[in-house]
Amino acid sequence: MDVLISGASIAGLTTAALLAGRGHRVTVVERAGAQRSGGVAIDVRGEAVDVARELGVLDEIRAARVPHDDVFRFVDAEGRTRATMRPADDVYEATDDVEISRDLLAGILERRLPGSVAVDYGRWVAAITDVPEGAEVTLSDGSRRVVDLVVGADGLHSGVRAAAFGPEGEFVHHLGLYVAILTSCRSATVDTGSVVFNTPGRLVMLRSDGARTSALLGFRSPWIDHDFRDVESQRRRVVDAFAGHDGWVTREVVGELAASDAFYFDAVSQVRMESWSRGRAVLVGDAAYSPSFFSGMGTTLAMVGARNLALALDGVAPGEPAQVERALARYDRSMRPIVTEAHAIAEVGAGILFPRTSSEIAERDARFTPAASAGGGAGH
Ligand SMILES: Cc1cc2nc3c(=O)[nH]c(=O)nc-3n(C[C@H](O)[C@H](O)[C@H](O)COP(=O)(O)OP(=O)(O)OC[C@H]3O[C@@H](n4cnc5c(N)ncnc54)[C@H](O)[C@@H]3O)c2cc1C
Repeated sequence: MDVLISGASIAGLTTAALLAGRGHRVTVVERAGAQRSGGVAIDVRGEAVDVARELGVLDEIRAARVPHDDVFRFVDAEGRTRATMRPADDVYEATDDVEISRDLLAGILERRLPGSVAVDYGRWVAAITDVPEGAEVTLSDGSRRVVDLVVGADGLHSGVRAAAFGPEGEFVHHLGLYVAILTSCRSATVDTGSVVFNTPGRLVMLRSDGARTSALLGFRSPWIDHDFRDVESQRRRVVDAFAGHDGWVTREVVGELAASDAFYFDAVSQVRMESWSRGRAVLVGDAAYSPSFFSGMGTTLAMVGARNLALALDGVAPGEPAQVERALARYDRSMRPIVTEAHAIAEVGAGILFPRTSSEIAERDARFTPAASAGGGAGH
């Protein structure tokens, strides 16, 4: 098949490598001018580990993994530990699951692309029209081409979803939270695990990956109608949200973010759709089923989705619309159970990390192992 993929992040690169490896002709367009960087370490879990193995990149991913430490310490305004949350089972001990920096994973996947796949940076899909021979795609530079399939692997704010399915608001469910991430925080650091400080509806979290500390600033807020690509507006939202919410290292981290151009900011949202394909357009990864930041499953779903789509398309004749339709329906069915499970996990995570009130913070702290001894916040 002749396939156009929109988005060159985890979902798009995995789909491109798998489809090209199976003999399809693949082109990738990516809106950003270069591979985007940022974010904290992400998890490659369960079946996604098999996908990495199939791609021949598992050893490279393992070599780049960060030491995993899933212990969360909840601290008070002075940095004294109030409670400690340990995972019931350390999944990383018992399985092949890996935690790796998002940037490194994207780099590994991009290098794995066969030479036949070109990534066209700085271009995006402007319009899609179904025509008898397939889908006619108009790109941002006005050029047009007809392909057998358009894959939207372009994330939460997917352009393919908007062009083929409808406006974002119909599918993106805001979970009432926003997060900003400084990948490498210098104003405050921790040595291991994650350390969390809450004021009502606010979260300051430092997380160590063994080599560096990332900082996450989060706040509860109804949907903010703004240009999600406007960095100055993002910065203002974060600074305003934390005005009057001091304590622990809040001031230092907010100050560092206010002076930085390199942070990641987005609404914490889930994408919920009844179907992930329409005509000759299909969605993979966050574009289709973003489980949200708090599930820890976004990358896993993206890689498994890419593999399931590639499997579903095996042997399909592009000139046979009924075959293509059946293949896309197979892909859809194969993803429903794992997506439903991942969507449910997210709500639990948000409840623990983002208490709404002082009494919810106290209840959360009482629920988890009380600190054996006080002390030990962050180093500055
Ligand atoms: C810079 C960055 C930092 C992130 N940090 C974290 C993190 O810290 N923790 C976490 O859990 N998740 C993070 N994520 C999200 C995480 O990568 C995804 O949840 C998961 O890996 C699934 O990936 P995806 O490829 O479906 O979506 P994404 O990783 O969001 O990738 C979508 C890609 O599509 C591109 N794109 C967007 N619109 C268009 C368009 N109209 N046309 C063409 N291309 C387009 C984007 O530039 C991006 O490269 C981050 C994503 C990005 C882009």
